[in-house]
Amino acid sequence: KAYDFIFNIENLNDLIEYLSKKIKFKKSVAGQRALMTPKLRDEIKARDNNTCQICGLSTKDEPNLLLEIDHIIPLSKGGMTTEDNLQTLCWKCNRSKGSKIYKHI
Ligand SMILES: [Zn+2]
Repeated sequence: KAYDFIFNIENLNDLIEYLSKKIKFKKSVAGQRALMTPKLRDEIKARDNNTCQICGLSTKDEPNLLLEIDHIIPLSKGGMTTEDNLQTLCWKCNRSKGSKIYKHI
């Protein structure tokens, strides 16, 4: 048999430990950073029409505009990598934003 899984208390404890480590990682800043995949970045930019959510510049206005994905509530303040906490900013606005919580609608 290729797959032998013995289900006992020791295995169960290992499993619980493994899962709790995963959950802790998911909630940690490093875990939240890891969720920030290139695919997610592209999705947020597409949602925001490649437009900076503070100054309104878009790659249509400036083809070389560098757009970045910003956490509205920073990870350092407990923000999560979820679509509703992410916005597209140009690099200039992102630099001037620092770690302030600021959302332009
Ligand atoms: Zn901007």
